[in-house]
Amino acid sequence: MIQDHALAVALSTDPGLIRTQNEDAVFVDARLGLAILADGMGGYNAGEVASGLATNRLAADLGHLIASSSLQDHAAGHDAATIERHILNEVGAANFAIFHAAQSTPRYAGMGTTLVLAWLYDNRMSVAHVGDSRLYRLRGDDFDLLTHDHSLIQEQLDSGQISPEAARHAEGRNLVTRALGVAPTVEVDIQEFDVQLGDVILLCSDGLNDMVDDEEIALTLRTLSGNLQLAADHLVHMANDNGGRDNVSVILIKVLADFAAPRGWWRRLQQLLK
Ligand code: CA
Repeated sequence: MIQDHALAVALSTDPGLIRTQNEDAVFVDARLGLAILADGMGGYNAGEVASGLATNRLAADLGHLIASSSLQDHAAGHDAATIERHILNEVGAANFAIFHAAQSTPRYAGMGTTLVLAWLYDNRMSVAHVGDSRLYRLRGDDFDLLTHDHSLIQEQLDSGQISPEAARHAEGRNLVTRALGVAPTVEVDIQEFDVQLGDVILLCSDGLNDMVDDEEIALTLRTLSGNLQLAADHLVHMANDNGGRDNVSVILIKVLADFAAPRGWWRRLQQLLK
């Protein structure tokens, strides 16, 4: 667990102006250091089922693990690989649960969801993602996208088939090349980052970054991150002001203090993961 007041968090989610359902699902908990955002797809509310299943399951399983691992404090080393392995196992299990539900319930057929997950611990952060939901970081003057979309348009950009300008207006911008729930197994990208005092982490669905330029997102965070909820709500408003064509979801995390793990936390966690 992360000590109180080390992280400030806020979330905001909205169906947007066109869609009647909100198929995004979000979870954030400052003491767990855990943020999860999923953007579901599939007709007849199935997208909502897929994103909800992913978010609820990962929040419960990882949340339980983090809460129980903080009970003891003896000396121990660090092991990011252990954390990553555990995230991959849990995401794999969530993927299979969604896949199984989609196979066994006709109205859920074809459902799936993106996922972006951040687990902050010991002044570091592990980020897992599948699909085109994103994680950005504002650090001082730098505003960086730390995830790489699994989408058709990103593949075309990477191979030089289209220009960034053409990509902004291309049809099929929302076609993802990876999602949870569409196959029995899923390839997950996982990365580790250091975390510094003052960092602002943004997780968002494509309903934000499709509608609002990165420069405007960065400006909003620079201006409003003193009031994180206001910043989150403002980002959603900007997406809607620009047309609100999709569900839009935002999670913000601001690092207010050092959150080095108490000695022993790692050993305890490693024992639990055995
Ligand atoms: Ca979306």
